[in-house]
Amino acid sequence: MTSRTFAAFLQRSLEELKEQGLYNTIEPLEGPNGPTIAIRGRELVNLSSNNYLGLATDERLVEAAVRAARTWGAGSGAVRTINGTLRLHEELEEKLAAFKGTEAAVSFPSGFACNMAAISAVMGPGDAILSDELNHASIIDGIRLTKSTTIRYRHSDMDDLRAKAREARDSGKYEKIMVVTDGVFSMDGDVAKLPDIVDIADAHDLIVYVDDAHGSGVLGGGAGTAKHFGLSDKIDLQIGTLSKAVGVVGGYVAGSRELVDWLKARSRPFLFSTALPPAAVGASIAAIELLQESRELQERLWRNAAYLQQGLRELGFSVGATETPITPCMIGNEETTQLFSRRLYEEGVYAKAIVFPTVPRGTGRVRNMPSAAHTTELLDAALAAYAKVGRELRLIP
Ligand code: PMP
Repeated sequence: MTSRTFAAFLQRSLEELKEQGLYNTIEPLEGPNGPTIAIRGRELVNLSSNNYLGLATDERLVEAAVRAARTWGAGSGAVRTINGTLRLHEELEEKLAAFKGTEAAVSFPSGFACNMAAISAVMGPGDAILSDELNHASIIDGIRLTKSTTIRYRHSDMDDLRAKAREARDSGKYEKIMVVTDGVFSMDGDVAKLPDIVDIADAHDLIVYVDDAHGSGVLGGGAGTAKHFGLSDKIDLQIGTLSKAVGVVGGYVAGSRELVDWLKARSRPFLFSTALPPAAVGASIAAIELLQESRELQERLWRNAAYLQQGLRELGFSVGATETPITPCMIGNEETTQLFSRRLYEEGVYAKAIVFPTVPRGTGRVRNMPSAAHTTELLDAALAAYAKVGRELRLIP
């Protein structure tokens, strides 16, 4: 390393992170990310991935990925606007629009890139963005790129949003005003109050932007949170990811034809980042087709989620405010939450501790992500470990 200042900075910063307990050690999996995972030669019940429908390891998707790679190659070769747009990308985007019930859709390399792309292409200086305080990091970063005025409102607090929307509009300072929310909040599993948000938007001429990373494939028969509330035509931008329920990688924006044309013309990740690889596109098309053909996987996901949530409640745990398969087991204290997760790991269950600063201090929880692929036996094994560790730590009777 040439710079001594830089070396000292890295060393000091890493030490600080470790002292604060914020340094993540990453343990690689020794096989696929399925309902069980192998780590250091042990098989664990996996309650930590976003693979809601079990599609990440579904043979039909793997076959579709292989077929697409054989036909179209390993990479797409360029950014979308040079010559990286394959017919396959357009097929995926047509399928996504039909799936979401919108005029059009456009894909991006990831859900994260999607938020960076879409917010910054639509909003700019002279505009204002009303953002739920618990919105995802990629939304926060997307907003930072806009140079718009950011106005945070208290989590799902519709009175606060209404007051701030009125004040922003009445000030006459802003041209466009947008309200941005996660459709489903990933740490608590609660659902955004879209009917109220849409009413407030109507009253104050707001653009409505919903990041439905955790709602797509899960709510509204699969089409997501907007469809769940019957509000698909009221949401200006619906963001989705291909990495969670769809089981692959990539992101997309669904909305009007003009919106999609604008994003293709102006959003920087579309213009400057290489198009999704054929294997990911082929597998995603297969996943969307499966979701359109049958609701069996969604039904199994919800059944498994209800089973796990009921089991945890019966043991005496709280699963907080969840309304979706996201299942936080509320613990509270940070150290106890970390210890709880470590003991579950020793008992054969992989469920991550989520603590400050990801969630407010004193609201530590072990977050469980049941999927359609879990068997009742696996969920029972997880509940047995919860019972054992919960009693050991005197959290339940
Ligand atoms: N938005 C939300 C709400 C998310 O939870 C995530 C994933 N952590 C993303 C966006 C980013 O999606 P991706 O993993 O596809 O980049």
